[in-house]
Amino acid sequence: MARPVIAIVGRPNVGKSTIFNRIIGDRLAIVEDKPGVTRDRIYGIGEWIGRNFSVIDTGGIEIEGEDSLLRSIRMQAELAIEEADVIIFMVDAKAGITNADEEVAQILFRSGKPVVLGVNKVDNLQRMDDIYEFYSLGFGDPVALSGSHGTGIGDLLDAAVHKLPPTVEDEYEDDVIKVALIGRPNVGKSSLVNAILGEERVIVSEVAGTTRDAIDTPFEKDGQKYVLIDTAGMRKRGKVYESTEKYSVMRSMKAIERADVVLVVINGEEGIIEQDKHIAGYAHENGKAAIFVVNKWDVVEKDDKTMQRFTTNIRDHFLFMTYAPIVFLSAKTKQRLNKLFPVIDRVAEQHSMRVPTHVLNDIISDAVAMTPPPTDKGKRLRVNYVTQVAVKPPTILIFVNEPELMHFSYERYLENKIRAAFAFEGTPLRLFSRRKS
Ligand code: GDP
Ligand code: GDP
Repeated sequence: MARPVIAIVGRPNVGKSTIFNRIIGDRLAIVEDKPGVTRDRIYGIGEWIGRNFSVIDTGGIEIEGEDSLLRSIRMQAELAIEEADVIIFMVDAKAGITNADEEVAQILFRSGKPVVLGVNKVDNLQRMDDIYEFYSLGFGDPVALSGSHGTGIGDLLDAAVHKLPPTVEDEYEDDVIKVALIGRPNVGKSSLVNAILGEERVIVSEVAGTTRDAIDTPFEKDGQKYVLIDTAGMRKRGKVYESTEKYSVMRSMKAIERADVVLVVINGEEGIIEQDKHIAGYAHENGKAAIFVVNKWDVVEKDDKTMQRFTTNIRDHFLFMTYAPIVFLSAKTKQRLNKLFPVIDRVAEQHSMRVPTHVLNDIISDAVAMTPPPTDKGKRLRVNYVTQVAVKPPTILIFVNEPELMHFSYERYLENKIRAAFAFEGTPLRLFSRRKS
């Protein structure tokens, strides 16, 4: 299911990225290598009063080849209108209303999209008076914020979440495997879609429902139903957005949110770059099954070590996704294309696999007996009981005496033991510790 989207719009320096980070909080840190990276991330996941949503910091989207600031802000606003369900329009209490603010206000006003006006840098009570002038922008009550102090964020989210549309269930049955192809431009995603749909045993159905953003192609192969979620939707939007790298990343994220299995397509001719990691990391964070597809295998000069070298390279770059299998193929010549579907089926199955509680507990007791948890300040973690509480992704609750005593490395150890027993190939696992003696 795709999350509703809240976009933050406003001219530079009003504090968009500061507020963005406040909204997504520590969720930011999941796969980021360096701490404190702000503008690297323009897309995050937020949660407020039980509602999940995506947040876009449009300020982080550089419009390539655009040197005029005003035009750039305008395009960011238009993009937000296109993408978002609710827009947070940010202004600066210290600076007052500027021409650029009025420009943005007009664009937003014309769009008819729900807008929440956030007045930032209201760092103290004296500045509360400064927010009244912003009524003139025509978006109702401004919400006073201080990104520096973290105040007002709750009020802002109350207002924004209140304007979100109701959640809609995805339109496919549970037994349909939803597959998204993601990857940088030119890695061969469209070619792969065509190659898959052109296969003899593939029966493409009428397109039942097309969602707002992606083009879905339902099809059947050997009795199994699938849907390809294509990010092709982005192509029709024209060159400006398409050339904007971070924008295309954003589009992929929407496809990922709706998918069960994500094919991370990599160009076999080239190496792996940072952007590949961001996209793949998003699949991981969202608990999706993933497969690395190394495409253009036809043009790679091969010897008997090439596949191993590629594998090592991928493993080095995607340390957090060692569970994802790797398929080498060529969309163009269809060489090894037949390897793909068995892997898709396998990881989809593992993604929704349920392990019986007693078996899980046997594995964990053995693991604990073999390597007991280390002590911490004289206390020792005790693992009492383990149970799987969800699928897609498999989610395991570990009941312990004191959750704070569960260290990352021990959790990793337990995860490895679980994987050694049940594989869970292609799928992330979620482990949570809860107190229960
Ligand atoms: P953006 O360009 O709109 O994303 O703005 P940034 O989030 O990068 O913030 C611009 C500047 O304003 C930075 O120097 C921030 O530290 C500062 N800033 C952000 N929020 C506040 C605030 O609530 N109060 C004050 N005084 N400064 C802030
Ligand atoms: P997309 O932007 O990821 O959808 O990539 P396209 O499917 O448009 O492919 C980009 C270019 O790579 C096109 O010129 C394709 O013909 C070429 N291409 C795609 N797959 C392969 C492949 O398996 N082998 C070779 N040699 N070229 C390919």
